[in-house]
Amino acid sequence: MSKSSLPQTDSVQELAEFWQTHDSTDFDDEMEEVPEPVFIRPDPSQLLIKSVEPEYPCYVCGSTRHEKVYVDEVFNVDGKHVMVEHIPAQRCQQCGELFFDAKTTERVLSLLHDSPPVARTVTLDVFDLAVA
Ligand SMILES: [Zn+2]
Repeated sequence: MSKSSLPQTDSVQELAEFWQTHDSTDFDDEMEEVPEPVFIRPDPSQLLIKSVEPEYPCYVCGSTRHEKVYVDEVFNVDGKHVMVEHIPAQRCQQCGELFFDAKTTERVLSLLHDSPPVARTVTLDVFDLAVA
């Protein structure tokens, strides 16, 4: 038997157990580099996820317990990072996944498109895990 394959799971626990007994250099050919920062939504239109009907089950964990929250999101607009504050969202109380409705997405898109006056400017420290 040669090397085993990468586990097809999103379970953090299973992946952690897997990497405790395997060396990632054995899997170089199976790894793919993700060029974009994954915590930043590359396009504001990706805000639109699922319905926010209170009884709608969370698409991640299936829970129907949501709470209304306001969040800040960073978007990459034409190569420039911008942040929109106080975006209404529903947050799954079980897993923390955020849901935005179509109307909110539309408002964010038109806000960014209309380029209103900037509310404030913040500096952003960028860290590179590849050189840390
Ligand atoms: Zn959930």
